[in-house]
Amino acid sequence: MMIRKSAGLVLVALLAVAISSCGDNGDEPNSTASDTTTASDAVLEIEAAFYPLQWMAEQIGGDAVEVHSLAPPGAEPHDLELSPEDVARVQDADAVVYLQGFQPAVDEAVAGADEQRVFDAAEATALDLTFTPIEEGEEHSDEAGSVDPHFWLDPTKLAEVGDRFAAFLGQLDASDADAFTANAATFREQLTALDDELRSGLSSCENVDLVTSHNAFGYFSRRYGLTQVGITGLTPEEEPSPADLAAVTDFVRDHDVRTIYFETLVSPDIARTVAAETGAQTEVLDPIEGLTDESQGDDYLAIMRSNLANIQKGQPCP
Ligand SMILES: [Zn+2]
Repeated sequence: MMIRKSAGLVLVALLAVAISSCGDNGDEPNSTASDTTTASDAVLEIEAAFYPLQWMAEQIGGDAVEVHSLAPPGAEPHDLELSPEDVARVQDADAVVYLQGFQPAVDEAVAGADEQRVFDAAEATALDLTFTPIEEGEEHSDEAGSVDPHFWLDPTKLAEVGDRFAAFLGQLDASDADAFTANAATFREQLTALDDELRSGLSSCENVDLVTSHNAFGYFSRRYGLTQVGITGLTPEEEPSPADLAAVTDFVRDHDVRTIYFETLVSPDIARTVAAETGAQTEVLDPIEGLTDESQGDDYLAIMRSNLANIQKGQPCP
């Protein structure tokens, strides 16, 4: 039959395009699936607001989804700006996964989307930490008491969100609901193994004061018995005031802190300044807000394990 033959040719051409583009972007080659499935078993197109949510959606959605991240690789996602095309993507997507209160531009775009198709991670786990500045300076007073959004650095919280996300996807695509549930169980197993490693690896640190670049490690520190002292506030863009810097420098000296941690997506200058003034060393501690070529691992699990190794070296934790 003519029709079937030409459809086959188109399919071969689409596959060739999909396969040849895989090497460039490093994406999972599941993009071919959308070309081969029938309308009744269509792939769900998901817009994810930033990397940890993108990774979660890929793990739990598996072959039944295609995930696109609104935050471009290498960009700090807190202050993400969306183009009109991005906003249209959010409003046209089969599903959107975001974190209310983390990225104002995404919050705004989501407000115009069908709420049945929107998953807010902030409603899937308790965001029960608020930001406390090291010293209540004028610069920070408006941020004091703000909800800390960085839940994903506690793997047990990410697993919790994963379970809820699987249920959400199952409502949108009932035929794949069992697969989503199974994927969420695997997701939870991987995160539980990571949590075990972190707990035992950080159980005997000589120093528990974690001096970080921005205050991303609140949930992480609570989970693993550490105390976070962030040089800037809840967002990395903020410049610390001279008073903030002096307070951190005093803290580092008074508490015999040996390592100042910096991030991959923001300049290490401030961490280096504090280190130089106090004689401390510097080390990477990645809040996993996005991947770059400098990331010490190619997914969430690998970067968390690099973070563990770096903290064990920096505190140190024998
Ligand atoms: Zn952050």
